[in-house]
Amino acid sequence: MAITQFGKRVQTQSDKEIYFISDFRELDVKKVVISDGLVLDYADKDGCFSFLKLIRSSSIESIYLVPVFILSLNDDVDEFTRALSDGVLKSLQEETFEGSFNVIDQRIKQLQTSDTNDLVIRIQNKVLRYYYTRQKRMTAITSTKAHTGYTYPLLSLHYQNANTEDMFKIIDDLEAKEFVRPRYEDVIHLCSNCYSAFINYREVCSKCGSSDLYMENLIHHFVCAKVAPETDFVQGNQMVCPKCNKLLHHIGVDYDKPSVVYTCNSCGHHSQESVMQAVCFNCKTVQSVDALIEKKINNYELTVLGEEAAIGGLAPEEAREAELPGFVGFSTFNIFLKYEIERIKASGKVSSVGILSLRTPAAVSSNLGVKYQNVINEIADFIKNATFATDILSFINNNSFLIVSPDTDKLRLESTLKNIQKSVQKLLDSNIEDANITVKIKASDIDNVKSHNDLINELLETNQDS
Ligand SMILES: [Zn+2]
Ligand SMILES: [Zn+2]
Ligand SMILES: [Zn+2]
Repeated sequence: MAITQFGKRVQTQSDKEIYFISDFRELDVKKVVISDGLVLDYADKDGCFSFLKLIRSSSIESIYLVPVFILSLNDDVDEFTRALSDGVLKSLQEETFEGSFNVIDQRIKQLQTSDTNDLVIRIQNKVLRYYYTRQKRMTAITSTKAHTGYTYPLLSLHYQNANTEDMFKIIDDLEAKEFVRPRYEDVIHLCSNCYSAFINYREVCSKCGSSDLYMENLIHHFVCAKVAPETDFVQGNQMVCPKCNKLLHHIGVDYDKPSVVYTCNSCGHHSQESVMQAVCFNCKTVQSVDALIEKKINNYELTVLGEEAAIGGLAPEEAREAELPGFVGFSTFNIFLKYEIERIKASGKVSSVGILSLRTPAAVSSNLGVKYQNVINEIADFIKNATFATDILSFINNNSFLIVSPDTDKLRLESTLKNIQKSVQKLLDSNIEDANITVKIKASDIDNVKSHNDLINELLETNQDS
């Protein structure tokens, strides 16, 4: 039977198909989709780690999102394996994992179908969905095996050392779109050529560049003012001044050590200053310390907007703008909103921002496919016609329409949105049978108190409680 090759079914009260796998030979990762969750045996560390990596590095959502627990009786699981798992168990008893399992399972069920061929978007989508379903922060861990010293376990599965820069770009982009919020963790210095953190810092001769230096103290004899390297003073186990031949007794009383002097064993050059150099262990590039890339390492948590994006799924923004004429991409919308806030501050006028959002069960939107998309397009068209030409419209993650309405107060925008809401609800009910789609609206005044983030979060938050 095929199933017996895929571990053993774990006894559960619920009808969940959880499999325990201890033999990792000839396992087909595609079979993961038949399960609701997995428990991997850490007795075979390498097998366990390799299989877990196969799961998390998959580009298929129903594989990479599957809840995976690690069974380890003595709890000695390495940090990387732990980070890619959903927890370490000491037994196969259902109560040891059902809590975490249920949370992840519930959240996975909220996700709507999203499909794009754009590789970057796919990875961003994966990051958002993985951390959304886990309710975890994307945290960097340190590892001597990681090219940059710090690594983001899930993301790192998609990037070779040579593409480290691309990996950081993905994160920066998610931050720029305000899907994630950074929390400072550390700062690292990376090779300017290959992004490696394994750097040999060394002092070199300022004349010939050799690192074969001899460093010693400079001695300053107070009585005769002679300054020379310490070796010039040493005679047996005494210190004698080479200039005035007096014996040196007490540091601070008859001499001091004002600084150090470097002597190059290669060219004999003496210098009081050395040059600090950084040599990359990975690509051997020799560079000045100033040339190293300084990179902040943050942990990231999803913003409310990020959670929305996780649920709805990302799509390439340009494609979206082209899809819905009259609508701008979300980042452009944000820029407009920021300008509007500044304009209100300066003019003292009133403007408002609002949302109309659809709560569509994931199963409905995926079953309907193209038909659902057509309904969305019709709604978009309707909203465009029912609002002012000066209003700025945007659309995020297949669910939510945003609007900035200049010189309109909250109440007036609310009443416009209410009218649209009624018509949209009618349109949905007449087009889709038993769709169970609800339409929510909300408007806020743009004042000089709330930032654009506060405003957007407020709209999206209201829209998430139901
Ligand atoms: Zn030299
Ligand atoms: Zn002297
Ligand atoms: Zn390098």
